[in-house]
Amino acid sequence: MNKQKNIHIITSILIIVAIFIGIIIIQKNYENTLLKKSEISIKQRAEETSTFIYNQIYTNKTYLKSTGDLLSKVLSNSFYDISNENIMYISNVFNDINSSNNLVTSLYFTDNSTGNIINSTGRMDLKDSKADFRTRNWYKAAKESKDPVISDVYNDINGDKQCITMSYAVYKDNNFIGVVSTDIFLEDMSNYLSNLLDNNSSSLYLLSPTGKVIIYHDKNILGKTLSQNNIHGKEIYIYSSYIYGLNWKIVISPYADILEKDLYNNLFMISLIGFILCCILLITTNYYIDNLYKISTLTGLNTRYKLMHDSKRNCSLSPVYLLFISIKELNSVNIEYGYNITDLFLKNYAELLRKLFDDKANIYSLNEKDFILTFKSTNYKEILDYVNNCLIDLQHCEVIIKNNKVKADAFLAFLELNCNEIKNLNIYLPKIEEVVKELKHGNKSFVSGKLEQFIIDVEGGKEGLIFLQKAIKEDKIVPFFQPLTNIKTHESETYEVLMRIKDEDRYLSPYPYIIMAEKYNLIQAIDLMVLDKALDYKTKIDKEDRLIFAFNMSGRALNDIEYLNKVNSVIDKYGIKHENIVLEITETQNIENLAELIKVINEFKKSNYKFSIDDFGTGFSSIYYLKNIPADYVKIDGSFIKDINAKDENLYLVKSIINMAKAFELKVVAEFVESKEILETLENINVDYAQGYYIGKPSSSI
Ligand code: C2E
Ligand code: CA
Ligand code: CA
Repeated sequence: MNKQKNIHIITSILIIVAIFIGIIIIQKNYENTLLKKSEISIKQRAEETSTFIYNQIYTNKTYLKSTGDLLSKVLSNSFYDISNENIMYISNVFNDINSSNNLVTSLYFTDNSTGNIINSTGRMDLKDSKADFRTRNWYKAAKESKDPVISDVYNDINGDKQCITMSYAVYKDNNFIGVVSTDIFLEDMSNYLSNLLDNNSSSLYLLSPTGKVIIYHDKNILGKTLSQNNIHGKEIYIYSSYIYGLNWKIVISPYADILEKDLYNNLFMISLIGFILCCILLITTNYYIDNLYKISTLTGLNTRYKLMHDSKRNCSLSPVYLLFISIKELNSVNIEYGYNITDLFLKNYAELLRKLFDDKANIYSLNEKDFILTFKSTNYKEILDYVNNCLIDLQHCEVIIKNNKVKADAFLAFLELNCNEIKNLNIYLPKIEEVVKELKHGNKSFVSGKLEQFIIDVEGGKEGLIFLQKAIKEDKIVPFFQPLTNIKTHESETYEVLMRIKDEDRYLSPYPYIIMAEKYNLIQAIDLMVLDKALDYKTKIDKEDRLIFAFNMSGRALNDIEYLNKVNSVIDKYGIKHENIVLEITETQNIENLAELIKVINEFKKSNYKFSIDDFGTGFSSIYYLKNIPADYVKIDGSFIKDINAKDENLYLVKSIINMAKAFELKVVAEFVESKEILETLENINVDYAQGYYIGKPSSSI
């Protein structure tokens, strides 16, 4: 269940991750569309700006050209001939153009032969001028071109302002006479364009062919070289294009800051919404999973998960009493009736538990076949009494479902858990389950006690099993013989064969191993081994075949004809008279199988075998049992014999057993005869045979 919960949590995390990835993809798409949109607008703006600048420059070029043509007309070949009147005229023309044009602020003509200048204020001789313009690149470039040319960015004559010069060669009668030019200050041009273009054009750059910034709102950058991809030290989205007819390049990254801000604002919002969604989803799935795992969908009872949860909270110092109920052979119900009926059966069982224990205990469905009840009360006796009262109902559940009589037995373990065990139920629950699994297939269908004792027994049991298997393999299982004496004749003709396990120089009593051997289906093999060895010994020491040997038969052996045939053939192998063989059967046989048992015994009795009812007085012994089982002997359980002289009630009980036995013509055997006094008492009350340490201890030889 925990594993399943983990799987669910992992899946829900995966879903959340998937949603998160989805959101990121949406974000990315959004980012892309935003960029696309801004790209289009950048492109558009760049084109607009580019056309605008082109128009401006084109107009200026036209002005320059027409000024040049005018100069060519007004000026004579020789600058010396020029009249003051003409100079005034030219200056005026320059002035007019200057004031009518926003970009062109200073038109001037440089005479080629003298280097003298005419500008809007009049004439300036070379000697008064700060520089000889004829040496300038723009001058030379104009001379070589028929069209106006534009210079690269350079520092103006005063050395403090970035400017470019637009120049045009003037010819008179095909003679080059000088250059008309205008200086355009980048700052002015930038201001002018910035004013013309909208305010957001702050990220618009105009670059000269050498990459120098001609236009930018930050004056400090004007004239500086700009690497296209590294504007402001970071990569941003830009668009660049050349302006037609010029080598100027327009670089535009409008909205660079705005775009980022916009984008990040939106991304933040989307992330926030995504995050909140994920949180809500996580909380709801967790809540859902929690509930799902706290209540069993089949029975509606609390689950193992809830049990773990509750055990952490309810930790007190007093012990906790817990009833573990495990439905046996649910699989066969499944096979016989199908899953639907099985489910209904379990629902019914859960209902029964509710009816019986709702006010007394918390009820949990551990898995489909196991239930756990934790009692609210800490009064051991009170709870145990109550459980005992309900025992039959719980152990043998029979319900009619869709006309089917569905029946299943349950195994119950009433366990006392100490504070530590309940606190660490995550560790102890698997141990409890292991204990139940071990005990479930044993003879008892109800056990009670402290959990720790069960754990020790079961864990020890595993080692025991290994030990037993090794003993079988290494042929360490041997028979011992304990005499039964005929109290009247004092003769010992009968011996009970008892198994021992040879462990180095000791012989171990089989008792704990027998239970295990029954559980792991080893008992029949062991019994056959003991039978074979005992009879082999008998043939050696009792050639006349006078002695009677009594063998213990394990609980289920008498239901197994195949096994009984094997027993028969071992006996016949040694040619032992059947009347010299007694088979001791215990009362733990299921009463329901009594008819079958009687049939088998009768069958064997036809072959002259003798039977003895062992441990009489402990189980469901009844007069009915004595009457109907066609046995020859009844062996009164040793627990009544060993203190028969100390406890009157034992004496009366033994006496009544003797009376019953005699009525059905059975011989009476008493075991655990440990003293002379006991033997005397037994003799007085007409017991036929005595067995016990006083008569003779079990021994490897006779
Ligand atoms: P059980 O059939 O009741 O055997 C009698 C037990 O009482 C034996 O214990 C015996 O050693 C012990 N006993 C005999 N006299 C006295 C006495 O005076 N005082 C006391 N306190 N005990 C006495 P053991 O040999 O330990 O066997 C225990 C049980 O194991 C047997 O109980 C029997 O049910 C089972 N068992 C023994 N051998 C075999 C076997 O080969 N096959 C099967 N299936 N069961 C066996
Ligand atoms: Ca016996
Ligand atoms: Ca016994």
